Amino acid sequence: MNTNDTSIAQTSSLQSLLTAQRAAHIKDPYPSLELRTDRINRLIDMVVSNQQSMIDAVMADFENRSAMTTRTSDLMPTLDNLKYVRSNLKKWMKPEKRSSKFPLGLIGAKSKVEYVPMGVVGNISPWNFPINLALSPMADILGAGNRIMLKPSELTPETSNLMAKAIESSFDKTELTVVLGGPEVAAEFSKLKFDHLLFTGSTNVARLVAQSSASNLIPLTLELGGKNPVVISPSANLQLAAEKLMWAKTLNGGQICLCPDTIFVPESMMQAFISACKASLKKLYPGDVATDPEYTHIITQRHADRLREMTAEAKESGAQVIALHESDSSGRRVLPSLVINADSSCRISQEEVFGPLLAVESYQNLQEVVTGINEKARPLAVYYFGTDKQEIDKLTHETVSGGLVVNDLMAHILQEDLPFGGVGDSGMGSYHGFDGFKNFSHAKAVYNQSKLDPFKILRPPYGKMVEDGVARQIKR
Ligand code: NAD
Repeated sequence: MNTNDTSIAQTSSLQSLLTAQRAAHIKDPYPSLELRTDRINRLIDMVVSNQQSMIDAVMADFENRSAMTTRTSDLMPTLDNLKYVRSNLKKWMKPEKRSSKFPLGLIGAKSKVEYVPMGVVGNISPWNFPINLALSPMADILGAGNRIMLKPSELTPETSNLMAKAIESSFDKTELTVVLGGPEVAAEFSKLKFDHLLFTGSTNVARLVAQSSASNLIPLTLELGGKNPVVISPSANLQLAAEKLMWAKTLNGGQICLCPDTIFVPESMMQAFISACKASLKKLYPGDVATDPEYTHIITQRHADRLREMTAEAKESGAQVIALHESDSSGRRVLPSLVINADSSCRISQEEVFGPLLAVESYQNLQEVVTGINEKARPLAVYYFGTDKQEIDKLTHETVSGGLVVNDLMAHILQEDLPFGGVGDSGMGSYHGFDGFKNFSHAKAVYNQSKLDPFKILRPPYGKMVEDGVARQIKR
């Protein structure tokens, strides 16, 4: 087969999976609560019974990633989401009563919203939390009564293969199936006429996905990344901020969509901030961070090189680079550093860092920070450390971001009752909890007319009384 033939074969097998899922959906377009719960239970069982193989697979893909990181960042949140949906599904599936326009409600008309399944949902997932980001959204997608085709990342081959096998033994292909492959397969996948497509990944690839799905007018949920700013207020508890920052920048090697990226520090607090970061890293890794088994590696050598190149470029153009450790970083183990006041033209000032480097910028007043945030792409999260209510209100009302967290980092993603998602360059649509159920459902407006046929007066022939009544309605 030449490359063209392979691509045709691929497309037709993807299409036949979709056709089978669509046919099954048409046969059972509104799965019962029991069936949806059973699907969620099967996913829960699959994660629990494969936990050790999942930990081992992620370890192999990352070269080094501790079992605790995989338990707390992949397995636990996935199970939490699945269980939360399972326990709320009955309530969410109930129709939502809405009011009917006066006086129709009084004469027996009824309005409601029914959340109905969309059908087949495509799910393209990234490598950084390879289990969580592939399986967690399934809580909402399956809960909403849909079927799923998953395309996990090619950069975590062990984990993606394991998920494919485990899913195959727990689900019929028409309920949930996995397609493996790299960017070429992903590109074909995103051209399929799904009923909804969820893409979690980078903003640049999201642009391609949006183009591929445009001709089929597929509703999209895009969960993307970006440069999340952190504002350290003069009122901040610097110790708390530094501890949280060091934790977030070293968790998963800083390879997190919600990771703090650019830290704005008052000029007068810069030296104290640097010392607090050094002390906090030592507290987290009391031995040698260069050999500590808890410290996660960068996913590929190419990404590790990218981080080193970013640092070198910033240093050459005059930024102060402060290594927060005494050891040398090597291979895929990149150690945390602060890169202070890099030129705005540098890659570290422009691109999502996605690693354990902190871009730090000094500031004098909050307005200049807010203006800077608003001039850049809209972030997935804005973080604030401090206690000044006016400053919190200013960031809340005058910046646009997926979420805002005060005195912590990334904590909003754990709140099941808050929508999780980005805005603009950091994404569109959101999921988690009831918001996720609604995102992957079609909110159908259902209106049941009164037996009195109240609109008959609006059909000709109109009498004088109706004409006068209508004229009276057209007023300020
Ligand atoms: P990526 O965009 O490179 O890849 C994501 C997925 O897209 C992979 O499965 C890949 O195979 C697929 N893909 C590649 N080319 C494609 C194409 N042409 N058409 C369709 N799909 C294609 O992202 P990544 O490197 O895996 O993940 C890191 C990025 O994801 C970061 O930017 C991070 O911020 C973001 N992210 C966002 C969230 C969130 O929930 N908002 C979560 C995790 C990661």
